Amino acid sequence: MSIALGCIADDFTGASDLAAILARSGHQVGLRIGVPPADDDSPPAPFEVIALKCRTEPVDEAIAVTQKAADWLMARGAGQLYWKYCSTFDSTPDGNIGPVSEALMARLGTKQSIYCPAFPENRRSIYMGNLFVGDVPLDESPMRDHPLTPMRDANLMRLLAPQVEGKVGHIAWPEIAKGATHIAGQLRALAYNGVQHIVPDAISQADLAAISEAVQDFKLITGGSALALDLPRLLAAKGSVAETGGEITAPATAAGNIVLSGSCSAMTRAQVADYCASAASFRLDPLALADGPDALAEARQWLAAQDLKAAKIIYATAEPADVAAAQEQLGRDKAGQVVEDALAALAGDAFGHGVRRFVVAGGETSGAVTQALATDRLSVGREVAPGVPWCFAERGGETFAITLKSGNFGTEDFFTRALEMLG
Ligand code: ADP
Repeated sequence: MSIALGCIADDFTGASDLAAILARSGHQVGLRIGVPPADDDSPPAPFEVIALKCRTEPVDEAIAVTQKAADWLMARGAGQLYWKYCSTFDSTPDGNIGPVSEALMARLGTKQSIYCPAFPENRRSIYMGNLFVGDVPLDESPMRDHPLTPMRDANLMRLLAPQVEGKVGHIAWPEIAKGATHIAGQLRALAYNGVQHIVPDAISQADLAAISEAVQDFKLITGGSALALDLPRLLAAKGSVAETGGEITAPATAAGNIVLSGSCSAMTRAQVADYCASAASFRLDPLALADGPDALAEARQWLAAQDLKAAKIIYATAEPADVAAAQEQLGRDKAGQVVEDALAALAGDAFGHGVRRFVVAGGETSGAVTQALATDRLSVGREVAPGVPWCFAERGGETFAITLKSGNFGTEDFFTRALEMLG
């Protein structure tokens, strides 16, 4: 079997989000953690998603690793690539959304792509080029204070322009509303004028359906996960993948569980507060972690003493003022790193104690935890919330379940709800 759509995601929660959306079609979706070795001979699924951790890497490194991922996918038949980033366009003026797109476009020999992070089911919409989170523009949302990629503008064209060399353009909602054929015409007109990077407005899933139909033959599509929802159907209509309506099945896992949270996003803060009301909890302090080995040792001891099957959470989740204070003392990267390293080490310990159900909150955090569990391939199960599936993997001959929740996804009771789903 060869790959019909090869996907590259800039973080792990984003990858599982995209995999979940594609899996709704009933098709087999492979989720790879990092770029598999070139000689990997596991049979590829028609939809393969490679999870990277390159959202905040230096631009050159992000380009190098995404090129490697593209090579792996293209060597297995993928002629079309999907570059997945966050529905809140998490990036900085340097990148990495734009530079990676341009490098992938060059690799694929194409001169135009679209940038569509809209995810209406999770209340991310684009109107007149401005990205809204719920009722407010991106720069008035909690993303304003993100520890790594604070978003201080809502206009996607303005955010993208400094990241790319080519011209940036826009298709406004009244044009989108005229449907796929009209949008395709607009894209051709923009291409004629040398406009390579197009932001289409999208406020509903119907808008996304029309856009995906218009770009279904693009060699590179970029966006959030919701734009991909109709691609399996469109590819099936062209005969690139078989028609299917398969049921998603989940393997059984032992009941030991833990919630690990390194996300400081507003929704995660509410979720952590909700869970702490009924679960045993341990808070990690980045300043103490940076101070020496004692803080981690204390967390390890606490974890070792917990009842395996009882609800428990370890979190570094904190209010913006506390995050700012930690960053001021340690620097942004160091503050993030000590927390990620600690949660990764604790995930490994938890597995050793028999935990087989992991709920992880935070994109960067999920990358650190998944890598610590040394998992290179996950299968994708049912969604706990839109874009957040349970995934299943093997470690040392044992099956474990892991769900990777991006900061602002899910409702307040997400952690309880996720664990209840596994019975
Ligand atoms: P989200 O999905 O909400 O963006 P991430 O895990 O991607 O969450 O990013 C949160 C970052 O903040 C991580 O690098 C994490 O280690 C860091 N972090 C977590 N808690 C704190 C804290 N109390 N102070 C400073 N940084 C923190």
